[in-house]
Amino acid sequence: MGTTGGEQWDTVIVGAGQAGCAAAYDLVLRGMRVLLVERADFPRVKPCAGGVTIKALNALRFSIAPVVRCVVRDMALSTDGGTVQHIAGPAPMLVTTVRAELDAFCLDRAVERGAVFSNRGTDRIVAVDQSPSQAVLRFASGASEAARFVIAADGANSTIRRLTGLKKVQRAFALEGHMPMPGANRRQLAFDFGAVQGGYGWIFPKGDHLNIGLYTQDEDVNLSRDALHSYARTATGSGLLDGVVGHPLGIDGHGAASSVGRVLFAGDAAGTCERLLGEGIHNAIKSGQAAAAAILSAHGCPRRAASVLRQEQAPVARDVAACARGAQTFYGSAAARRTALAFKPVTSAFRSGFAAGMTFRDIAATAALYSFYAVNPVRSITEHEQARAV
Ligand SMILES: Cc1cc2nc3c(=O)[nH]c(=O)nc-3n(C[C@H](O)[C@H](O)[C@H](O)COP(=O)(O)OP(=O)(O)OC[C@H]3O[C@@H](n4cnc5c(N)ncnc54)[C@H](O)[C@@H]3O)c2cc1C
Repeated sequence: MGTTGGEQWDTVIVGAGQAGCAAAYDLVLRGMRVLLVERADFPRVKPCAGGVTIKALNALRFSIAPVVRCVVRDMALSTDGGTVQHIAGPAPMLVTTVRAELDAFCLDRAVERGAVFSNRGTDRIVAVDQSPSQAVLRFASGASEAARFVIAADGANSTIRRLTGLKKVQRAFALEGHMPMPGANRRQLAFDFGAVQGGYGWIFPKGDHLNIGLYTQDEDVNLSRDALHSYARTATGSGLLDGVVGHPLGIDGHGAASSVGRVLFAGDAAGTCERLLGEGIHNAIKSGQAAAAAILSAHGCPRRAASVLRQEQAPVARDVAACARGAQTFYGSAAARRTALAFKPVTSAFRSGFAAGMTFRDIAATAALYSFYAVNPVRSITEHEQARAV
């Protein structure tokens, strides 16, 4: 279906972030002809702290060892003037990456399997037309791309959502910058839940630099560059913060429509980022894979695709809903935050659960059993650490 210079497409994917690349990879693996339409040339800057949790590493179809910057086993948590809690242990809780490197790496994996990447630059998508047999993307230049299905993985500001008449997803917001760390070897990650109303400040180590940022899920809070500079100075003693960028996160998509006819939504465009910590990479991957599974089992029928998509995205939707409830309690009062962080069984359950690759919802439901959580080695981490040891 559809054409780019005479090519025929089964699926056109808009956006080559984590959701788009995950969908493309699964589709090309099953022999589908896939076009990835992007407005940016890769590698491109994507505002993101690049923290990839164990569950996200487990969800990926391949190892990302070459683009892992740090393996994190140690976190410092603080809130509202309370004592800093250290949660550490032998098992990694997450890895850090630079999103430009991670996304280019994942795009390369999809392209080497057969996906076609098309950077459209400023040639904007201006319409999405649907007929009984295909969906057609129309560009400002007059060009078009037609396919049996379209996956909209174009992030929190989704153009495709707007063009198909769907309501915007809820949005959180985050602002970040980089601080050089020459010669240093910091491996500890820090969260300060007292730094911002309805959110937190973070410091993520990336080997040669620190990524420092502020996140809020409270729509009444405006994060400013000044606030970020001031947080970075207080937290590190240095004023050398550079490259400050901000971006919304598409949250609370549980219950929102995830398809319109032949157009399926994934990642932040579907509101799959979770509200509590603003973790979006895992759910972007899972929802991209869900969209691919829906298309593969739809045999061309949009109603069947919609129904499989709902089933496949249900675990993501349940976790997003659980995180939204968690955020309400956690950000609701300073006392709730202080109690949660000072209560060892809570922090230990989350440490062990993250290390075991569990979702927030599963950890919250089984926290009392945390000492039985099974921690398995993760290929991306063992390969990264073996390469560093040489
Ligand atoms: C500052 C910040 C820090 C964060 N830190 C973390 C973290 O540490 N860990 C974590 O798990 N999550 C984090 N998140 C959330 C995470 O970045 C997102 O949830 C995740 O990137 C969503 O992936 P996606 O593929 O849905 O969308 P995106 O990664 O936003 O990708 C969308 C792609 O679509 C392209 N695009 C957009 N519009 C168009 C168009 N009209 N035509 C063509 N292409 C288009 C964009 O160029 C982009 O490449 C953070 C978010 C922010 C803002």
